[in-house]
Amino acid sequence: MTTAIRVQPGIMDIALYQGGASQIDGQADPLKLSSNENPFGASPKAAEAVADAALKLHRYPSTDHARLRQSIAEVHGLAPERIICGVGSDEILTLLAMAFAGPGDEVLYTEHGFSLYRIFALSAGATPVVAPETDRRVDVDALIAKITQATRLIYIANPANPTGTALDRVELTRLADAVPENCLLVLDGAYAEFFDGYDGGASLVTARANVVMTRTFSKLYGLGGLRVGWGYASRDIIDVLNRIRGPFNMSSVALSGAEAAVNDRRFVETCLTENAEQRARLVGGLRQLGIACDDSQANFVMARFADEDEALAADAHLKSVGILVRLVKGYGFPEALRITVGRAEDVTRVLDALANFKGAA
Ligand SMILES: *Cc1c(COP(=O)(O)O)cnc(C)c1O
Repeated sequence: MTTAIRVQPGIMDIALYQGGASQIDGQADPLKLSSNENPFGASPKAAEAVADAALKLHRYPSTDHARLRQSIAEVHGLAPERIICGVGSDEILTLLAMAFAGPGDEVLYTEHGFSLYRIFALSAGATPVVAPETDRRVDVDALIAKITQATRLIYIANPANPTGTALDRVELTRLADAVPENCLLVLDGAYAEFFDGYDGGASLVTARANVVMTRTFSKLYGLGGLRVGWGYASRDIIDVLNRIRGPFNMSSVALSGAEAAVNDRRFVETCLTENAEQRARLVGGLRQLGIACDDSQANFVMARFADEDEALAADAHLKSVGILVRLVKGYGFPEALRITVGRAEDVTRVLDALANFKGAA
């Protein structure tokens, strides 16, 4: 950068986001369990809607996303005017930081929290503040202890990535009770559907002016490539976010695909049933092999090995048999691998490979 051009403060402290790997050298079609994608793909109805939308690409998309918001509202029992749609939930999380945090403000999240939270804080020029976790779980008391007069935004993923652990309703309410009125509690519900009985925090949002929920079509709905997410908040907050979002942020293709996806409840139910079954198999199988893992409320499991060396060796072995998982050293877990729950045959392949790895060790 030439010296004459000044970058806004914080931005050069951002390290580029590292996504899950998608290729192995010399392997044509690896089993990709590195990005928590839906192993069944997207609903065929979503794919059909996308193909239909391709016939009208010359038309500008809707700016108010009314149809998609209406569909989401009906499925979740929410008010459509309190919903905002974004280019992935990433965009909603970014808009929140842009609108509500800036230089001198603090953005709080936890030790092993999603790596983008730091990026959102720094992008807004705000100061990232990290609260410790306890036994790979968000620690409500430790979070509360880090809240100051400068805290404007708290990001919590529930269930959390990469641990898969979750706060229950009682703990979440206790946290919400302790957040000052001038600070927003953002409940990132990227994996909310996989946590049986959890509403993603919707009831907390309905009851309070300073709680926001974000959701995504990238995980359960298998539409990571389409980039659709949404947020639910008070009308006042939604109004603020709508002022800064691009009027044409969502493509017509994305809007059509997501609308079809959210209305295909049968596909969703099948995926959820399958995930719960295969997740239990994966957790049980790992533990049988002597590989520790916490109970997961998401669509992935974090497998903990003896140390970093063993985790790297296990990762190399999985790669050698064409399986891609996620190293999570960047999240503070050098000894662990995050494994997306796959189809039955995928879980069998992973467990067989790890059994061979353990047997050879
Ligand atoms: C995957 C993920 C998201 C979703 O991102 P999109 O932009 O909606 O694809 C958000 N938060 C967490 C913790 C995630 O793991």
